Amino acid sequence: MKNISILGSTGSIGTQTLQVVDQYPDQFCVKAIAAGSNIDALEKQILKYKPEVVAVWQEEKAKELALRVKHTSVKVLSGMDGLIAVTTLPSVQIVVTAIVGMIGILPTMEAIRAGKDIALANKETLVTAGHLIIPLVKEHHVALLPVDSEHSAIFQCLHGEKKEQVDKILLTASGGPFRGKKRSELEQIQVEDALKHPNWSMGRKITIDSSTMVNKGLEVMEAKWLFDVDYDQIQVVIQPQSVIHSMVQFQDGAVMAQLGTPDMKLPIQYALFYPDRNPLEGERLDFWKLKEITFEKPDIENFPGLSLAYRAGRLGGSMPTVFNAANERAVSLFLNRKIGYLEIPEIIAYVMGQHQLVPNPGIEEILEIEQDTYEKIAAKWRD
Ligand code: NDP
Repeated sequence: MKNISILGSTGSIGTQTLQVVDQYPDQFCVKAIAAGSNIDALEKQILKYKPEVVAVWQEEKAKELALRVKHTSVKVLSGMDGLIAVTTLPSVQIVVTAIVGMIGILPTMEAIRAGKDIALANKETLVTAGHLIIPLVKEHHVALLPVDSEHSAIFQCLHGEKKEQVDKILLTASGGPFRGKKRSELEQIQVEDALKHPNWSMGRKITIDSSTMVNKGLEVMEAKWLFDVDYDQIQVVIQPQSVIHSMVQFQDGAVMAQLGTPDMKLPIQYALFYPDRNPLEGERLDFWKLKEITFEKPDIENFPGLSLAYRAGRLGGSMPTVFNAANERAVSLFLNRKIGYLEIPEIIAYVMGQHQLVPNPGIEEILEIEQDTYEKIAAKWRD
């Protein structure tokens, strides 16, 4: 039996993690959960999974939840202390970081310091603080298990291989719903169009990020830290059917790929059971129906989010934080219909151009730079 805690238990990855737990009730026990404000969902999860600790970011909501569940033994906490209590609970072995945003960094660092293995979904953790997280993981001898489907695929391809024999990482991308469209067509894109992903069902922000290719850019930065490779060794390959989840090319030219139907429960389950595999119900790849798998080069002219990410990653230091925070705010402005679709990469480029690079930022500096980025954007674009 593995005791787990889930940061972001009410979100897309969080609820799919709970579906995996439901399939294997004898293997996993949910000891702690956290969310931002959705106390209706948390209340149901408390009654079903009976965790020891629950954290709600918003204090008022935490108080309301505590009243609702006062007949149970669960401890309801709030704020950053609450999130840290969820990730450091002594009985927990593995923490699933399925929270969205840079708010996930500190509780993840504390979890590592407390010796917990990390099933990592939260992209911002490695993108903005990879230089702090990776040494911490090594120092505390914990496992950092990727949940993102691409990184899980790479992780699976590397199983039993020698890291120094890797030539390059081939990170696949669907190309999103607007693949093949030109700037003039992209100008007209509305929120509803961007929220329709052709293959994957995900949270709102990541769905927009997939459509702009910013998500792939964030994944490139994550891959750099997870697999200890240079940016020149990471190549993005468009594979519109989302059948190949990513590949690794080795020094002898051999390419290993992980294929499957798009279902996030597979990488979640792989991280939770690692190094074992266990049955997962669902569709299987039918090669006769599929007939072909096609490949394209990324269109960096019409989708500049990817090249901006490579630039931010290569500059390093605080620039990935600026890239990430600027994108987060720009996506929020777009979702609130305050800016047009093409302004998302324009805002990122603008703020990156304004930023004075800090070479090796600590966690406080990272969070300050995040705020500074938000302020720069707020001064020019009203939410
Ligand atoms: P969702 O928006 O669906 O869920 C986000 C979760 O985070 C919710 O449980 C939300 O709680 C919680 N949350 C938000 N803010 C806070 C806060 N301040 N304190 C505590 N909890 C908070 O996101 P996804 O599940 O789609 O994504 C989560 C992370 O995983 C992201 O970093 C994303 O990039 C990454 N990821 C997602 C994939 C996917 O398929 N969805 C694939 C790979 C990576 P509440 O419901 O109360 O708002």
